[in-house]
Amino acid sequence: MPFVAATEQKDSYDVIVVGSGAGGGQTAYTLCLDGAKVLMLEAGRNYVPESETPMFHTPDMAPLAGVGTPDKPFGFYDATVDGGWQVPGEPYVRVTEDKAGRFDWWRARMLGGRTNHWGRISLRNGPYDFKPYSRDGLGFDWPITYDDVAPYYDKVELLVGVYGSNEGMENTPNSSSGCLLPPPAPLVSDLLIRQRAKGLGIPLIPGHRAVLTQPLDFRRSPARLHPGNPTAQKLVAEAMRSRAPCLWATPCGRGCAVRANYQSTTVHLPPALASGNLDITTDAMVHEITLGQDGRANGVNFVDRTTGKQRHAATRVVVLAASACESVRILLNSKSARFPDGLANSSGKVGRYLMDTVGSGVGGQVPLLESLPPLNEDAADGHQLYTPWWLYKEQLAGKLGFARGYHIELGGGRRMPGFSTAAGLEWLTGGSYGAKFKEEVRRYYGSFVYFDGRGEMIPNEHSYCEIDPQVKDKWGIPVLRFHWQWSDHELRQAAHMQRTFGNIIEAMGGKVRGGVITDGAQAIAPGGFIIHEVGGAIMGSDPKSSVTNHWSQTWDVPNLFITDGAVFASNADKNPTLTIMALAWRASDHILARMRRKEL
Ligand SMILES: Cc1cc2nc3c(=O)[nH]c(=O)nc-3n(C[C@H](O)[C@H](O)[C@H](O)COP(=O)(O)OP(=O)(O)OC[C@H]3O[C@@H](n4cnc5c(N)ncnc54)[C@H](O)[C@@H]3O)c2cc1C
Ligand code: SF4
Repeated sequence: MPFVAATEQKDSYDVIVVGSGAGGGQTAYTLCLDGAKVLMLEAGRNYVPESETPMFHTPDMAPLAGVGTPDKPFGFYDATVDGGWQVPGEPYVRVTEDKAGRFDWWRARMLGGRTNHWGRISLRNGPYDFKPYSRDGLGFDWPITYDDVAPYYDKVELLVGVYGSNEGMENTPNSSSGCLLPPPAPLVSDLLIRQRAKGLGIPLIPGHRAVLTQPLDFRRSPARLHPGNPTAQKLVAEAMRSRAPCLWATPCGRGCAVRANYQSTTVHLPPALASGNLDITTDAMVHEITLGQDGRANGVNFVDRTTGKQRHAATRVVVLAASACESVRILLNSKSARFPDGLANSSGKVGRYLMDTVGSGVGGQVPLLESLPPLNEDAADGHQLYTPWWLYKEQLAGKLGFARGYHIELGGGRRMPGFSTAAGLEWLTGGSYGAKFKEEVRRYYGSFVYFDGRGEMIPNEHSYCEIDPQVKDKWGIPVLRFHWQWSDHELRQAAHMQRTFGNIIEAMGGKVRGGVITDGAQAIAPGGFIIHEVGGAIMGSDPKSSVTNHWSQTWDVPNLFITDGAVFASNADKNPTLTIMALAWRASDHILARMRRKEL
């Protein structure tokens, strides 16, 4: 019985995995397909994408035509249930509301976590990204290299399905042969951007997203993923065959009922459940890891949200994958005589070095794209092309005034019109009504382009979370309090993004909407806003300055692992989720090997 109530759990498990998103899903998948008995505890409710995804609903079928509201900031049809910037009854504290020192925390309380609606942009970290300190003396090196993670990037790409291409660009690694699916065709706006950006020395190459542009290779990939394990191969082949390629017609943020994009709920959990080795308890809010006399973790305490009762589950190994900050919260709330400052916190580094992605965007309107003939441009519902960081040499030569780079995500094209399609045209039309307004909507529809920079933040001493001494959530669990500060590197980087995007729009003959912001402090999005938060329990090679070793295993508690973004020692410009999954697979392989040797 794979979905079990809190009262129906087994007496003990090989591994308890806390959280069911990218990190938890990958961990449970790898462990279960290799025979480990796993209990997954998920704070949110069960969620079934196949029956709950309103893929083909039109805006007129939703309240307020589906536009965003405080409850549903990404629109009525967004896949997130019971989550968002605020979760009712589960507050968090910010030491300031100022934009400069604010941290916004997005949570998805549901099976599959944020993977049900994430952007699916799936970029590998490059070799430089694992050794940033060695390059510029800032932040920290990881205790692993790109070569340690590369085989796991290959595996994750093969399993989840990622489109893209190998371009051999600096610090933008190629995948092994057969790992990537063919990328979709660029949009008209992409082609124009590529042509004009080239004149500025800015390259555009196919983006990488976890979306199936063709069926997965269910005949060959399972053997590459699970050599010598025919049972796993069979289960994975079946799971791959159950996934249809993309229909190019529906917004991915609603989720995908045909399993064409990656969600933990449609990709990781089905084969793990089919193995018979996975029990899942939803509505299970974990708040403490329990320790045995030997100093090892022996289980977790959680609140059964369906009854409000306290429960305990027992295990040989605990893996935290509740998302970076929630995993930190569980560690800090797990106090004992042996660990008075929180579990695995002998270094005092739990909660420290919280990072997000540097974000800044510019939009514009391009006359060359006006009044184009109607074509189906629904495309991949995400970017087709993107720009990896391209100024490594200029940066090394000290010409930029900031460390670390950013990539550019593009927006444009003509998606399904919505309530806001015709809104805000006054800056172009001066205001119009009736027939003239309709004419102008048709003229301008599809002539807008958007550029979003996604850049590296360097970890600093001032960006961290801790337990608030007073505030508790509705279950009585102490909550997190966030501190945040950008350094000049990030602020200058954000200003550089603005100038670059303004230059591209001008090179397209377009107009920048609202003007370019030259002050980095104004240009940068608040901390947490890009929803790429990582760090808080960083990996390292010294137990005094890090929380885990290179296997994501805590230094202090040998049978406690962390497989979400908390272990990141830096936050490259590359979106973090592919790396979370690759590291989770790697850590899980290590757990399996040690369990076989009876070391765990
Ligand atoms: C709008 C949006 C767009 C994004 N786009 C991208 C993108 O394009 N590329 C990219 O790389 N990343 C993107 N991300 C980020 C991406 O979603 C996360 O990096 C990824 O989901 C992190 O995986 P995770 O397993 O650590 O956390 P999550 O996916 O958040 O999963 C954590 C799970 O743990 C559960 N949980 C939390 N606390 C507890 C507890 N105490 N007990 C039990 N369970 C608990 C949660 O309910 C949740 O289900 C995006 C995110 C958002 C919101
Ligand atoms: S665009 Fe493709 S991947 Fe995205 S939801 Fe639609 S069918 Fe699924």
